[in-house]
Amino acid sequence: QPELSGDFGRIMEWADRTRRMKVRTNAETPADARAARSFGAEGIGLCRTEHMFFEGSRINVMREMILAEDEAGRRASLAKLLPMQRSDFVELFEIMHGLPVTIRLLDPPLHEFLPKTDEEIAEVATALSIDEAVLRLRVDTLHEFNPMLGHRGCRLAISYPEIAEMQARAIFEAAAEAARATGAAVVPEIMVPLVGLKAELDYVKARIEDVAKAVIAESGVPIDYLVGTMIELPRAALRAHVIAESAEFFSFGTNDLTQTTFGISRDDASAFLSTYIQKGIVEQDPFVQLDFDGVGELIRIAAERGRRTRDDLKLGICGEHGGDPASIHFCEEAGLDYVSCSPFRVPIARLAAAQAAFKGVKA
Ligand code: PEP
Ligand code: MG
Repeated sequence: QPELSGDFGRIMEWADRTRRMKVRTNAETPADARAARSFGAEGIGLCRTEHMFFEGSRINVMREMILAEDEAGRRASLAKLLPMQRSDFVELFEIMHGLPVTIRLLDPPLHEFLPKTDEEIAEVATALSIDEAVLRLRVDTLHEFNPMLGHRGCRLAISYPEIAEMQARAIFEAAAEAARATGAAVVPEIMVPLVGLKAELDYVKARIEDVAKAVIAESGVPIDYLVGTMIELPRAALRAHVIAESAEFFSFGTNDLTQTTFGISRDDASAFLSTYIQKGIVEQDPFVQLDFDGVGELIRIAAERGRRTRDDLKLGICGEHGGDPASIHFCEEAGLDYVSCSPFRVPIARLAAAQAAFKGVKA
């Protein structure tokens, strides 16, 4: 972390002495992780692994995997992705040097990896040596009208457990490698997205545990790790006491939680929300500032119920609201342990967390 000088340095020093909540970052690239560290991030609160697959030739391997005919085909593509993913994680662990790193298993709706236009279909058919008509049929089978409410998050890991197994293997092998290289213990936090049912988390967690045992036996390196879940569906918040039986941490995905609580699409909302704000129907865009009364109530419920089951349940937030000062004040009051935000928001979040803690002491 660079030395901060002058008034800014003094303010940040005060902030860090005063705040209770930790400040982590949302990052999946080494550049973002390094930038966040230089701004004072105390770990990674959300590594969105799907972003790692959109780059360059990786998207083709991913497409090949999703469009494969059977499990053997998927496993062949996953074997190509494993070394890439392992080196991604080694780099992040080394940059974070023993600080917590939360890695989320693949989340995106499948359509993000599917070829869309006729040209794309033709291109992918050539790249994958599949007949164009056969490919079109497979794409049609995977098509969804509401992909954000469809085959994504843990649902993908349940349909195709081999994807979660590859990612878990990459995480554990990387943790062993980074621990050897840096001498600092690496305790990965593996996060399962879009959980609504404890049984979903249990299914995925069992796959993760099997892989952990195998990698620990193969590498001879003992690896501690946590398994937790995103809380981004109202059902998960309401059933937090049950889900906490299987989760060692919760991270509030307030982007999806806002979407699913309001029933407003996070991707298409802006047009009518600006009318709502103009006409005074809502005061704020709830995707920017947390809706304290509704979404916030679900967070309070989940925090209270989750900790009733497990009093050391670690609680964080990794939706966009984790970098919004007013929402950070809410997180302090709700008893969260950390906020996670984009790298450039880290200094603001450190300051807001301090102001929130200071207000709490004064009140
Ligand atoms: C969220 O839903 O708040 C979240 C952090 O996940 P994503 O934005 O990747 O869906
Ligand atoms: Mg989400």
